[in-house]
Amino acid sequence: MTTHYPIRKSGPFRVAPNLADHDKARAAFQWADIERELDWLPNGGLNIAHEAIDRHVLRGNGQKVAMRWEGKNGEREDVTFEQFRRETNKFADVLRSLGVAKGERVFTFMERLPEIYHAVFGTLKAGCIAGPLFSAFGPDPVRDRLDYSGATVLVTQPELRKKVEHILPALPNLKHVIVVNKNGRSKEPLAKGDLDYDALMAKANQSFVPLTTSRDDYSIMHFTSGTTGKPKGAAHRHNSVIQQYATGKWCLDLHPDDIYWCTADPGWVTGTSYGMIAPWTNGVTQVIYEGGFSARKWYEIIQRYKVTVWYTAPTAIRMLMKSGAALPKSHDLSSLRFIASVGEPLNPEAVMWGLEAFGMGIHDNWWQTETGAIMIANYASMDIRPGSMGRPIPGVEVGIIDGKGNEVPTGEEGDLAVKAGWPSMFRTYWNDEERYRSRFLGDWYITGDRARKDKDGYFWFIGRADDVINSSGHLIGPFEVESVLIEHPAVAEAGVIGKPDPIAMEVVKAFVSLKDGHEPTEQLRHELMRFARSKLAAATAPREIEFVKSLPKTRSGKIMRRLLKARELGLPEGDTSTLEDD
Ligand code: ATP
Ligand code: MG
Repeated sequence: MTTHYPIRKSGPFRVAPNLADHDKARAAFQWADIERELDWLPNGGLNIAHEAIDRHVLRGNGQKVAMRWEGKNGEREDVTFEQFRRETNKFADVLRSLGVAKGERVFTFMERLPEIYHAVFGTLKAGCIAGPLFSAFGPDPVRDRLDYSGATVLVTQPELRKKVEHILPALPNLKHVIVVNKNGRSKEPLAKGDLDYDALMAKANQSFVPLTTSRDDYSIMHFTSGTTGKPKGAAHRHNSVIQQYATGKWCLDLHPDDIYWCTADPGWVTGTSYGMIAPWTNGVTQVIYEGGFSARKWYEIIQRYKVTVWYTAPTAIRMLMKSGAALPKSHDLSSLRFIASVGEPLNPEAVMWGLEAFGMGIHDNWWQTETGAIMIANYASMDIRPGSMGRPIPGVEVGIIDGKGNEVPTGEEGDLAVKAGWPSMFRTYWNDEERYRSRFLGDWYITGDRARKDKDGYFWFIGRADDVINSSGHLIGPFEVESVLIEHPAVAEAGVIGKPDPIAMEVVKAFVSLKDGHEPTEQLRHELMRFARSKLAAATAPREIEFVKSLPKTRSGKIMRRLLKARELGLPEGDTSTLEDD
């Protein structure tokens, strides 16, 4: 059974692109409709891996390509759903034969190799909790996360193992280190006590693994990005698949014949919820590129694999913008039909650039590690409102509330909050139930973001609660100021903070990096001040502008305003475990 919901663009889900119909369908919607589209386990249980992989094979689509992998050295590998099923069965069997019990934490510290997908879904099949770590982490963040989660298994690669070798003996819970030597890239012998992935897999049973998970069993543990402070380990349940599957259809407009590319790494929640679960539960072929960012390479990937749906992030879009609109024009990107973005506010300038470079707008959507899946989106079927995060998905209630949990009038700023109980809601911060509980006010979950809602039900991001600036009683969101600054042709990126001021309490200070070919002169500084003043209210325009080569960012590409502020004030920088190298 399929749900007819008027927010898809094409295929069996013909749309009625108007807001009233959207509201009507929202009102009638029940999650049970989506739950019926999933297969569930014979015993009534639920398992993400079963929904993402096995059910396609059981329905006769085993020969369809699930993954088209391109390695950083140009290697290619296609994996069908049938092969994927076998590899994940085998990995689950490896865990079983090592005596790893249900609920144990199995972490990966790997680059984007096919084996990371095999390991994560195999972990889920075995009923264990998967914890993917970003491969660019140094030893300390890896140790902290393994220690905090009490991980018993680490799956890694020779060169990454080497990077963290000195921290491993200090982890009492860690029992097994499994090493993937992809295509024999490393010539070094296995370290003493380590297990060879290929050898274990060669002996494993590829045909049958009992799946015993229920919808409430833990599935994946993801650490937040560390943008506002120490990263927190959010634990998710198999139940999340319901919303990940649904939003793949609704918000990314996935159809079975799509070729999809999600540029996020599995080390971040986007890389699992939308780089694994949403596309594969929708039976879509996914492109996986192991290498890092390069504008030219990225366009080549879209051209070579004929990518139709592309999910990326504002930081990547700003980098592509920096490299100009001529480059995409020199590639055949005609396969693209839908582009979406998440992770940070998407500046209106970036949405419009999509029109210029790709002939289509970029669909912003909002969610966070804790929500597990997209909550607010610019839908395929509706007009994009540049600068807005969009409208809430069916089946969730999103509100703008005051400090007492009351909704504020339309148009007013407040805390962005979600009524608890959406399917992909995190269940706890691992080992920190108190912090988890502190995020709720009555039945509202407080997201930590400030926003407002317009009369048509579109939500507009103002800033993280910690980043909002109070200047002479005006509350100013950095995003608004940054978006104006990047409209200037010389500006590549901007990060805005409140700088303490004896009279105004805080004044707006902007840090600006420039596009290639522009010099940080006094004249340009004045020009930018004038430019901002012409577009912003007097209290909102920056009082100071400082040129920087680059802005401090998390490894997932988010501007770390708290670091700009700490540096400005000469204060300690706090947790910098997710800070990107310069
Ligand atoms: P930490 O919680 O450790 O400080 P983080 O909040 O950056 O890190 P994530 O869960 O990866 O960790 O990011 C979610 C946050 O990213 C959201 O709460 C919001 O602040 C921001 N964000 C994500 N998408 C959007 C968007 N479309 N528009 C505006 N902000 C967004
Ligand atoms: Mg957060």
